[in-house]
Amino acid sequence: MKVCQHIALGAAMWLAVSLTPLPLGARVEPTHGFDLFSRDEEIQVGQEAAAAIPKQAPLLPENDPVTKYVQRMGANLASYAPGEKWPYTFRVVNQKEVNAFALPGGPIFVNLGTIQVAHSEAELAGVMAHEISHVVQRHGTRAATKQMAAEVPLAILGSLMGRGVLSQMAQLGISFGVGSYFLKNSRQAESEADLLGADIMYDAGYNPRALATFFARLKEQSGRSTMVEQFLSDHPDPGNRSQAVLAEAATLPKKTFLNDSADFRRIKARVAEMKPLTAQQISAQQEASPAAPATAGVTPSGAMRTFSHDQYQISCPENWRVFGDQSSSVTIAPPSGVSGNAVSYGVIISDYRPQPSGQSLDQATQDLIAWLRQSNPDQREIGHDEDIRVNSAPGKSVDLIGNSPLKDSGGKPIQERDWLVTFNRPDGSLLYLIFIAPDKDFVGLRPTFEQMLKSLQLK
Ligand code: ZN
Repeated sequence: MKVCQHIALGAAMWLAVSLTPLPLGARVEPTHGFDLFSRDEEIQVGQEAAAAIPKQAPLLPENDPVTKYVQRMGANLASYAPGEKWPYTFRVVNQKEVNAFALPGGPIFVNLGTIQVAHSEAELAGVMAHEISHVVQRHGTRAATKQMAAEVPLAILGSLMGRGVLSQMAQLGISFGVGSYFLKNSRQAESEADLLGADIMYDAGYNPRALATFFARLKEQSGRSTMVEQFLSDHPDPGNRSQAVLAEAATLPKKTFLNDSADFRRIKARVAEMKPLTAQQISAQQEASPAAPATAGVTPSGAMRTFSHDQYQISCPENWRVFGDQSSSVTIAPPSGVSGNAVSYGVIISDYRPQPSGQSLDQATQDLIAWLRQSNPDQREIGHDEDIRVNSAPGKSVDLIGNSPLKDSGGKPIQERDWLVTFNRPDGSLLYLIFIAPDKDFVGLRPTFEQMLKSLQLK
């Protein structure tokens, strides 16, 4: 955090500076980074993505009192956002899971479930100020820029820019739709959005400590309720999250805060009566709609059963099949997600022997990715890999995109998302899981995939 110069001055200087208007107290400065998108391109790409959201997620009507309330609150908070003024818009997704997301250049979406679990207006303001901060800091297009620069040499990328960053983006399969990889923020981006969000809350008259309380509640429910996992997956805890927000709050001068409003209590009573859809119900609805592609029968049943392998044990949806047995490689998938040796929906669990043996988990995982690429040449790593822990076993999580075995109406393969998770085995081999779905359906299946991974017990 950069501290405002005035604060750092000694006591003797304080008198002098206090003759000038009082400093407002330390504020987090928005970070900037390499970004290929111009302001107009940023707005355009966000608005195009926002226009597609109603097809992917059920929105409350524009004139719904809950929408109106969130829009009023959002406009007020956004008026305190530092830096560039973006055209912010706010909509409520009729979804039960706690989540919120921001598209480049201003469109912000808040799940109804987030309002249902917020205990005060200040908590909801915290989530919204956090999203506003992602927009201010252009986290989505900065992540996309990083990815583009990793895939295309900068000199070439520069010369392509004349033809527009948007067409280049489309060519690389980068998008900002629901569940898009670029809406999943890095821990660094999260930490920045938390601190800037705390300042915006403060300036709008809310106690930033409410954001810490909200995060603490999510953390406490994590692992017990699948309702909070989406938020934590899109907005991963950078570590000591609540403490960092409290520390930022402590740098701000004391003042009297708004904690609640009659509006909030009225809206709370209203949303308590509402029955938002779960991610699973939303993807089932999309499957049932005639416009949806041929993905019928992949929706996991709510019920889970356990599959026991010689090397591990895992839970899977009751209506998915296990292809393989307790000593072989296994594919767990809906029957229609597998054809021949191609998997379009499901999970592959297998082992891999890196050459030479004795490599670190990082190296062995890279070795595995190179090997996977031999049969999937279009597959590529996207974003940043992460160290994770599954039931105390250290693992590596890597996101990949590539071509699905499924084709669009023009006969072109649709984009696939592959979530690879690896673990070292005592014998030097890797146990790996690849969770597979077309990119557009990944968000709907993610809660199931996460539930499966959480149930994994290595033997
Ligand atoms: Zn975030």
